[in-house]
Amino acid sequence: MPAKQPVIWKKPDISPDDLDYDSLKVIRRLRRFGYRPYYAGGCVRDILLDHSPNDYDIVSDARPEEVRNVFRNCRVIGRRFRLAHIFFSGKIIEVSTFRASPDQHADEKQDDLYLRCQNTYGTPREDAHNRDFTINGLFFDPIADEIVDYVGGLDDLRARLLRTIGDPFQRFQEDPVRMMRAIKYAGRLDLEIEPQTARALSDCRGDLDKCSRARLLDETLKLLRGRCSPVIFEQLFEYGLLEVLCPTLSTFLDSSPEGECFWRLLDALAGLDPKLRQRLPGSVLMAALLYPYLKEGWAKAGLLDGKLSQAVLIRHSGKLLVGIAEKLALPRKLSLSVRQVCVMQAFLERAAPSPARLARRESFSDALRFLELRSLAEDVNPEVLGPYHRWLDVALHSKAEGSSRSTKNTRERPGRRKRRHLEHHPRERLERAGPSPAGERGLPVERAPSVDDWFDDIL
Ligand code: ATP
Ligand code: MG
Repeated sequence: MPAKQPVIWKKPDISPDDLDYDSLKVIRRLRRFGYRPYYAGGCVRDILLDHSPNDYDIVSDARPEEVRNVFRNCRVIGRRFRLAHIFFSGKIIEVSTFRASPDQHADEKQDDLYLRCQNTYGTPREDAHNRDFTINGLFFDPIADEIVDYVGGLDDLRARLLRTIGDPFQRFQEDPVRMMRAIKYAGRLDLEIEPQTARALSDCRGDLDKCSRARLLDETLKLLRGRCSPVIFEQLFEYGLLEVLCPTLSTFLDSSPEGECFWRLLDALAGLDPKLRQRLPGSVLMAALLYPYLKEGWAKAGLLDGKLSQAVLIRHSGKLLVGIAEKLALPRKLSLSVRQVCVMQAFLERAAPSPARLARRESFSDALRFLELRSLAEDVNPEVLGPYHRWLDVALHSKAEGSSRSTKNTRERPGRRKRRHLEHHPRERLERAGPSPAGERGLPVERAPSVDDWFDDIL
């Protein structure tokens, strides 16, 4: 039987102004070299829904090495999943090659089927059918000015329906992360989940346990960085996915009055400026998820009565988080900094007498940022924000001192070179989320910085 022809929507009324200029250059150049490039995935969906896309992904029949031959500013990345990255100032355009249908037997050692099938090249039709949801399976050719739809995505977009491409039970079993993605799109784009897809979500939710923990954590952090995390987490909770992802948290939300604080923190997070939210380090995001649960645990154990002990609180938090850290595969470093950020809240709230000692801790600045977030969630006595500026000042000075000390040390001890290099790696710096360029650059801090400076600096 001949393959069904795609639906072509000529002149979909997408102006070049809706597109990213550099990505358009990439498409034009690939076309000039005889390839067949399209915009694909999220950017096509978002443009048609009048949202501004996060990024502009391109797919074409050019192999990664061929793309590299066409662009000087290109690097092929990934050993298993090869992609071309084309570099422009301040952004990267990703160009992938049409993927073939998954081969169930290829590389059985890789237990994640989605990851298994990523490197076999195919046709545009196969590529579209490989994608997760119909609304994510559309291609846009800006030269011919047409949308190419192999999967019924246009009809679903018009009806605002989220539907898997193919049998939802099979697609969710193949790659259970798609279930989290389904909830993400439904929440973020205000779509209805098509009934069969919704049934499969409920029935297959247990499979979430089978997929790569690193991908789940990644997806969770992405959700927290998005603007719709409250509604998405509500849906994850309603559909019972949260129960699989993190049973302790789900039970806490179900049974504790402190659960309210969790939802308020998510609301506060979602209300932040998007650029700021994107830059928040994992420890602050995870603290938003876990702090209310930890606080309840400390209160139940009587650890907030009388004199606080940092060591005891950290140890007890470790016990409370053990199951969660394992379930979410929190890396050790992240798990420790989340605990520190949360535990420091108890001290900050009491305006503890020795800020300098606390300020030496690596997570101090993140703890301050989380305190600020909590204040937006009305979870903090406003009086605490008075000393907040003093704390901020201490953090800036302590950072400035710390960095001048460490420069001295590295000069004296050449053996530490490698570590210094690591500390200055941009990703590492972002993770540490240096909120104070003034302090980091060792510039004198002329006045106590305001909360606005603090936020400006991270942007
Ligand atoms: P966002 O705006 O959140 O980036 P997106 O749709 O661009 O949304 P990405 O994670 O960037 O999502 O993925 C790009 C595209 O790759 C998707 O639109 C989809 O077509 C495809 N895709 C991503 N993950 C999967 C998956 N697990 N299974 C099938 N297709 C996927
Ligand atoms: Mg994307």
